[in-house]
Amino acid sequence: MSETRCPSAPAMTGATVIGAVGEDGRLAHFATTLVADEYFLAAARVQGAPEQSFRFSSSCAESRCVQWNGEACGLIGRIVGLLKDAGAPIKPDRGHACTIRAHCRWRLQRGDEACGVCSFVVTDGSGEAAEASA
Ligand code: SF4
Repeated sequence: MSETRCPSAPAMTGATVIGAVGEDGRLAHFATTLVADEYFLAAARVQGAPEQSFRFSSSCAESRCVQWNGEACGLIGRIVGLLKDAGAPIKPDRGHACTIRAHCRWRLQRGDEACGVCSFVVTDGSGEAAEASA
């Protein structure tokens, strides 16, 4: 199992909850580690798919993930491109709290630029993709 962390993983028991989606649709990253258990997930499901309210992190599945392009995660590059096309105010960012920063797949690939777009991403409830909104 990879030590590298996916920052947009499906909601499941044992996943790290890295932040909550606010009313503005932006993710507020948590400063302390929270691990999802069955009670957390059951409470989150009251509002719908947990991924619509929270972002979860699990070990990067690499070639077992549909986002893997053979060498890296293809998702973060597409998200950056979509947000730039939409005119989103992307600024490289390493200032905000994040509990997976040292091992985050997107940060390892794109550095501060990944952290600058991260809060715009809400994971698709299917666990196969992510949505980005400007
Ligand atoms: S992209 Fe940056 S802010 Fe987002 S999960 Fe990875 S390290 Fe944390």
